Amino acid sequence: MSTMAKDEPIPADDQSLFFRQIVDSSTELLHTARPDGYLDFFNQTWLDFTGVPLEKLLGWGWTCRIHPDDVEAFVQKMRESFAKGRPFQEASRVRRADGVYRWMLHRKVPRFDGDGNLIKWHGSSIDIDDRKRAEEQLRKSERELRTLIDVMPAYVGTSLPDGTVDFLSQSWLDYFGQTREEAMGWGWAGVIHPDDVDRVLANWQAGLASGEPVEQELRCRRADGVYHWFLHRSLPLRDDEGKIVERYGILFDVNSLKETEHALQIREHELVDIIETIPAMLWSASPTGEPTHLSQRFLEYIGVPFEETVDRGWEGLIHPDDREETAKAFSRAIETGESFSAILRLRRADGEYRWQKARGEPLCDPHGKIIQWYGLSIDIDEGKRAEDHLRDTRIKLAKASRLATVAELAGSIAHELNQPLMSILANAQAAKRWLNSAQSNLTEVNSSIERTIRDARAADERMQHIRALFKQESFVKKDVNIPDIIREVVRVVQEDPKKRDVPIECHFDESLPAVPVDQIQVQQVFINLIVNAIEALEGQQMAPLVTLRAAVTDSDRMLIQVIDNGPGVHDPERIFDAFMTTKEKGMGIGLAVSRSIVDAHGGRLWAESNKAGGAIFNVTLPLSHTGPTMAQTKNMREPDPSAL
Ligand code: ADP
Repeated sequence: MSTMAKDEPIPADDQSLFFRQIVDSSTELLHTARPDGYLDFFNQTWLDFTGVPLEKLLGWGWTCRIHPDDVEAFVQKMRESFAKGRPFQEASRVRRADGVYRWMLHRKVPRFDGDGNLIKWHGSSIDIDDRKRAEEQLRKSERELRTLIDVMPAYVGTSLPDGTVDFLSQSWLDYFGQTREEAMGWGWAGVIHPDDVDRVLANWQAGLASGEPVEQELRCRRADGVYHWFLHRSLPLRDDEGKIVERYGILFDVNSLKETEHALQIREHELVDIIETIPAMLWSASPTGEPTHLSQRFLEYIGVPFEETVDRGWEGLIHPDDREETAKAFSRAIETGESFSAILRLRRADGEYRWQKARGEPLCDPHGKIIQWYGLSIDIDEGKRAEDHLRDTRIKLAKASRLATVAELAGSIAHELNQPLMSILANAQAAKRWLNSAQSNLTEVNSSIERTIRDARAADERMQHIRALFKQESFVKKDVNIPDIIREVVRVVQEDPKKRDVPIECHFDESLPAVPVDQIQVQQVFINLIVNAIEALEGQQMAPLVTLRAAVTDSDRMLIQVIDNGPGVHDPERIFDAFMTTKEKGMGIGLAVSRSIVDAHGGRLWAESNKAGGAIFNVTLPLSHTGPTMAQTKNMREPDPSAL
């Protein structure tokens, strides 16, 4: 072709070759057919595509390259077109040289001569496989989406930007019993509960106006006429410019959730009513002890908003003296997962601290992990104060009555012995006079001595009588916690302002076992020992200090020590004698009585000097009921009358 001049006509042979070259080099798949449909030409592109020589495709040979599923319908349509002389267009799968079938769109147009006779068919085919597959994929996705929409436990629809509904899923129509025609536009609003319809439409319009998503709850009538609660959500779909082109809406049936929620609300109200009616203050706390809820009664009692207790913790509400013990008890419960129990003073809204009995129980998951603490606190203030008062009074009374008893005893002994002693004295003097007189009268001497013996015997009898009185004493032993009763003694002693200046330190071993004692009697021993220690420190140069210790020394004994840094004791035995005192107003009875109490418990009381200065008073008590029996304890050791 390059040899041809620009405007020169191409010779006929060259022309045919020229067009043949164009046709063969075309990317189009071209072919021609005779008027009867016999395909008489395929261009080279076709031959390359199928990988089949021309002679095998000519006539109807090409049908072997059409997909077996398509060939029948395809040939049928083609024959119809040929018969009518009308253009033909049809898609079919054609087998490529590599064996892969590809979708092709085939077109054939008839060519007529000047007389209108059909002389030829010209055809072309284009590969539409990618497009066809994309379309198929799209259709598949759409089918899947529709199926999904219909099987979803939700009812879906779309609406135009003005709010008129243009699509509702089949499940929507079935569920609400509307036909598509009824529901389209605004017909769907007919299923909304009359009480909700205004609110729902107002929200819907507001969402349309603002272009914002809409979320609301509403009641809709189902096909069976029953109203159910639904959650309605609607989202706008925007185009690339941000213009709303559609809104998607979905309804979820939340009726059972609503019913459960309603039932739970009723239950919650009932529980809150119960909690608020119980005459106790209820609380709950996190696994680590932070408050999570306080009943109204509790909040009113403390007069502090709940948030404040969360921010500041419990501590500020508890009496400073009880904080450490309470915190320890709660920490122990948290560590071990055991119940929490404490008696503490809690600050009331008016600032008064009142005694409370607090208890807490852990709620655990199936693996035993604590998920919450639940507890209550009961005001036991009146009872506790009455009990404390009673105990204090009993201790004081016990001490007073013992002193009174001993004082009375001393008086009565003096009284009882006075008369026989006077008589003994008179008779002894008479006997002396008779012996010393000029005419000594032995008969008189003898009778005076007789009377002396008689009176001495009478004195002895009275002493026996007094001893018998002591033997009436009895007491009852009960297991008690020694540190607790000693702390109580310290509190009672320190109630006396004169004794408050001396610090008292307690060092009690952890987890001491209970000891069977008569609490009042033993408390009296410690009152005597502690008061003595404080009195021994009066006027001392050194900073006074009383230390109390309790420990188990061997398997069956507890040793309790009262230690002071006073002047110490010079004669550690004599101080236990009755009426032995170095104090101006002392009676010298305390230690004697204390020792007799300790002895009666099967224990020992002795004094020793502290190497560091001061005195140590030791009390041992048996741990189990191995001491004297009830019968034996009736025979308390009485002060030795010889000391009187
Ligand atoms: P009172 O206290 O009435 O004197 P007690 O029998 O209790 O009678 O004490 C007898 C004496 O023992 C006291 O007067 C005192 O001399 C001595 N005593 C007691 N306790 C101590 C002590 N901790 N330190 C020094 N002396 C003590």
